[in-house]
Formats: sequence, structure tokens, C-alpha cells
Amino acid sequence: MHTPLCRHATGEPTAYAARARELGLAEIGFSDHSPMPRDDFDNWRMRFDQLATYVAAVEEARRNHPSLLIRLGLEVDYIPGQEAWIRHLSGLHPWDYLIGSVHYVADGWAVDDPSQLSQWKHRRPIEVWTAYFKRLTAAAQSGMFDIIGHADLPKKFGIVPTEDCSPLFETFLTAAAETGVAVEFNTAGLRKDCREIYPSETFARRMHAHGIRITFGSDAHAVEEVGASLEDAVALARRVGFTQWTQFSKRQSTSIPL
Ligand code: ZN
Ligand code: FE
Repeated sequence: MHTPLCRHATGEPTAYAARARELGLAEIGFSDHSPMPRDDFDNWRMRFDQLATYVAAVEEARRNHPSLLIRLGLEVDYIPGQEAWIRHLSGLHPWDYLIGSVHYVADGWAVDDPSQLSQWKHRRPIEVWTAYFKRLTAAAQSGMFDIIGHADLPKKFGIVPTEDCSPLFETFLTAAAETGVAVEFNTAGLRKDCREIYPSETFARRMHAHGIRITFGSDAHAVEEVGASLEDAVALARRVGFTQWTQFSKRQSTSIPL
């Protein structure tokens, strides 16, 4: 889940935690968009000098809601060439997990950015999906992340190739199985044009076939999105065969019966 530091979310962590307790959740996690080496990289993440403020806000939520498990994480953009920066970030705080996400498929183009929708007009959907999965596969291979975020994000606006995408999924999942990185069930897709969880059911079935470990997330950017459609994500995971999910604490994983 996110915080106002990323400039496109509302509500403090302690308010998200209060909502989680109302819903009867036992555990939540924060994974706001991590800073870039340059603060002017884009306008939808915290600045580097706000990292300590972010950690303090999550710690405040923990203090205010001691009965709730509150994990401290980051959603880190995987961009080839930034490995040293990502390793630097990973050592700065006692993170419970790092989510590796691909948003940027090319210099300056985040595939999920509504203000850059016109970029899709210059490329065929399969080219965009191929570029995206090439980076996602590298993110899985890097070994720097505990979880891969919203794995089929390019479907967000409902722009889906007519070609068969299964070779893209297979290459990514083979890499993920090799390094053991988990893949999340992220319900934000239900709130977007694609109207479906990330990953799709087809993708999720392949995840299960590869023995991928899973987590669940709402990707909440507002208090009312905390835990959104969690039951749908759990139902999808069960339907495709999963019987366990994975919990992360200080970057160590535990399997829990689903
Ligand atoms: Zn966000
Ligand atoms: Fe993301």
C-alpha cells in the first residue's frame, strides 16, 4: 500500500491500519514507490530525503495499532542499469520486503501512466508487452526482490495483444521459479479499465504450474482501498490451485496455508 509521499495517494499509514483493523485483517504492508537516484526522474514517488519520513510514518502506524502486523516495504522500479541504486536502497532500512515492479518500458514511458496513454499509438501492443516482459524477467533474475508486483500491468488500459502472450509469461515464470521470487495477486486491476486482478486467471494458472510463491495486495492508494477485493484474489488463487501464500518479515519468507 502507498502513502501521500508518492504524490498520488491519500491518507496516512495509521489511517490505513485503522481501516485494516475494522476489516479484521491480521497483517498489512506498506510498499510506497521508492526514490530514484534523481528526484526529478518523475512526479509520482517520494524524494530521497523523504525516505526516513516514510519509515517513521509506518512506525507510527505500528505504535498506534500494536495488535496488527504492519510490514515495512518498498515498491522499487526495476530499470536495467539501476542495480547499484536498488542495492543501496535495500540496505538503508530494515525492510520486510521489496516489491520489484516494472512501470518503465522505455526511457521516459511508464506503461501505466494515464497521461502517457498516447504512447500506445506509436507501437503495436505486442511490442509493448514484449518490452515489458523482457524487463520483468530481468527483474526476476536479478535476485534483488522478494516479490514481483502487478505482473501483467500492461493490460491496465485494456490494450491487449491479439497474439499469444504465453511465451512471454513462460520466460518470466521460468526465471521467477529459478530465483524463488514471489509474485503478487494485486487487486488494483479490478479498479482499472482491464477490470481484472493482476495476474489474469490464465497467467495465474501458469504461476501455479511453475510452483511460484504468492502474496496478496490491494495496492491501496486511499483508505477505502485497504483490503479491497481481497476475497476475490484469494478465490482466484484457490481456483487455480494454490494452497499456500507467503509472508515476509525482514526479507525472510514463511509459507502459510491458504
Ligand atoms: Zn502508485
Ligand atoms: Fe506499481
